[in-house]
Amino acid sequence: MHGATALAGGVILSLNAGSSSLKFALYRVAGDTLESLLRGQLEGLGVAPRFVARTAGRTLADEKLGAGALDHQSALDYLLAFLQRQFPGLVLAAVGHRVVHGATQYMLPVRASATVVADLDRLVPLAPLHQSHTLAPIRVLLERLPAVPQIVCFDTAFHRTQPAVARRFALPRTLTERGIVRYGFHGLSYEYIAHALPALDAGAAAGRTVVMHLGNGASMCAFSAGRSAATTMGFTTLDGLPMGTRCGALDPGVILHCLTELHMDAAAVEHLIYHESGLLGVSGISSDMRTLEASADPRAREAIELFAYRIGCDLGALAAALGGLDAIVFTAGIGEHSAALRERVCRAAAWLGVELDPEANARHAARISTAGSRTRAWVIPTDEEVMIARHAQAFLAAEPCGAGVGSTAG
Ligand code: ADP
Repeated sequence: MHGATALAGGVILSLNAGSSSLKFALYRVAGDTLESLLRGQLEGLGVAPRFVARTAGRTLADEKLGAGALDHQSALDYLLAFLQRQFPGLVLAAVGHRVVHGATQYMLPVRASATVVADLDRLVPLAPLHQSHTLAPIRVLLERLPAVPQIVCFDTAFHRTQPAVARRFALPRTLTERGIVRYGFHGLSYEYIAHALPALDAGAAAGRTVVMHLGNGASMCAFSAGRSAATTMGFTTLDGLPMGTRCGALDPGVILHCLTELHMDAAAVEHLIYHESGLLGVSGISSDMRTLEASADPRAREAIELFAYRIGCDLGALAAALGGLDAIVFTAGIGEHSAALRERVCRAAAWLGVELDPEANARHAARISTAGSRTRAWVIPTDEEVMIARHAQAFLAAEPCGAGVGSTAG
């Protein structure tokens, strides 16, 4: 029996673990396509957990759970129990996961095993905000549902097509050879956009596009014919744009100054640049764009201004890497929902041929540039979960026989 046959009608669970959330989606395999059964998230883990699940626009659950009680492991247990209640006797054909860092060793989706998890665990220092959280559900499921195949997808993988010059730091070659290179992240989101773009703008899909993934984490990617040519994040998820609490690109001399002159230790510097900087650090108010946009405090304005300014500068740099620009795409929480931020970015990109249609932008239309705009501007909601499920489906379909189909979800 071929893997594709074994998968038919099967159900794939997508898990996307963040620092304080676990997003999930459930799909039924219908031929080559995936039928969405439900999706949702457990958010506020460790602080004020809340569970939300929806199907076809209908809310199935919206519950506040005991304050602080839920960590990533118990969140997964909660989810599995919920799925069993919704679909008694549910059999999972596969579980797909997003893992932030695969380094040079893992460039393509891989089946989870104790060895793979141990390899990926060694990369925790490269993405301390995320890697261990994304590994937690894999570990739990290897134990609880050992017969269910788990397919791990990497945020770094989409960027494997970049030319060497875009990946290299100007450091001695011995460090480059040890894997100290620019990897890039948000790959599943970019891959989703790369798949969605041709239907909207065939010219941009075949040409030069800069995609802006603007959420709590934020990065930008230059697409050449739908493939990653350059990106703003680098060796870790710190580089590039300022983010909710991360500083983005920083003169490395600042780190040395913190260590030698301010006598901070490495842990304090790590906390500073991952948790106390970005929109939160500049505003002193919040890491959340909605809060900043609603604030009359001039520091909130300055934080937004800096965010937009840096996006504009990096847009110029990525357009230079592409040798021109046919389109830009906004995605993720801020990119999809903040008309004000998009307006700032588009206006600053007038020199690159972007002409904003303010009315289309205000109503969050898909195309927010005028009909005559030389460079088109699009808003495309991202969907990392369906990308994960598609990878799991493709991975198992390519296997010679359907493996592991047959364990209940709880
Ligand atoms: P994550 O990286 O955690 O997945 P998201 O992609 O959900 O983050 O993006 C979160 C960001 O999106 C927050 O800064 C939030 O304030 C912002 N955001 C969400 N909705 C809106 C909105 N309507 N207007 C402005 N910003 C928004």
